[in-house]
Amino acid sequence: MTPKKLYGIFGYPLGHSLSPLLHNFGFEAKGIESVYMAFPVAPENLGEAMGGVRALPVFGASVTIPHKIAVMEYLDDLTDRAKAVGAVNTLYWRDGRLWGDNTDVAGVAAPLRLTERRFDRALVLGAGGAARACLAALRELEIPEIFVANRNKAKACALAKDFGCFALDWSERNQGFDLFVNSTPLGMLGENEAQSPIDESVLGPESTVFDLVYNPLETKLIRQAESAGAKVVLGLEMFLHQGLEQFRLWTGERLDAEAARRRLLAALGR
Ligand code: NAP
Repeated sequence: MTPKKLYGIFGYPLGHSLSPLLHNFGFEAKGIESVYMAFPVAPENLGEAMGGVRALPVFGASVTIPHKIAVMEYLDDLTDRAKAVGAVNTLYWRDGRLWGDNTDVAGVAAPLRLTERRFDRALVLGAGGAARACLAALRELEIPEIFVANRNKAKACALAKDFGCFALDWSERNQGFDLFVNSTPLGMLGENEAQSPIDESVLGPESTVFDLVYNPLETKLIRQAESAGAKVVLGLEMFLHQGLEQFRLWTGERLDAEAARRRLLAALGR
């Protein structure tokens, strides 16, 4: 197979991104003559790289840190999702125009829809870039009461204003919510690994816990939630579903989520 179409991820540094694995698996599974590459692009080279997207047979791209906001000035249009989040993680072409979208929103919304649970009161922990995608997703799911708690409360208040939800003091986060979403790095491999953003005492069988952290796959928060009988959604699901949505935007094809999940887990040694 000689690939005729080029896709890739723009970020810096790129480290061990799982995106090439996911999309090349998809191209192979669907028999599509395309290849997805890692494009480490330093911030000062973003303009030239975007010139490359227009000049070369680049049919779509993922965008990650630190380019998610800076890339917007090089695009022709933004989807409503990208506008709501204020950041772009996906580039695709429609009718000769280069669009920016944010599939992180689908990455949060799709796994929550799959739980088939109803959420009336949700809490997002953290107020960074990922929190914005979470809040856009929770709004899309029409959850009536959405709260955001952050160490630096001013940032929670700014998000609450942008998304029409409520800001909480970080000290007020341990309350009864039926959905908790962790968008802080607490629980992540390294210095924060032994930490969880909430107390286990607020979790029970009616709670759902979505930890965006996926390294390690099962964080302290996930272990607490499991021991309290709560429903858990792993951070890998966000990565998977944002990627499946990108694949659909680029190729019109829906990848089998279970097969793609198995491929990712195998790459992570599971
Ligand atoms: P970010 O923009 O740097 O925001 C991090 C947030 O976490 C900030 O609100 C920060 O609070 C808070 N925080 C940091 N350290 C903290 C601590 N020790 N205690 C309490 N709060 C703390 O990062 P991001 O891009 O939103 O990403 C957040 C996390 O989401 C990452 O760790 C990553 O693992 C995960 N993520 C997962 C996926 C996925 O596909 N599963 C995608 C994106 C991100 P302050 O404002 O007070 O500093």
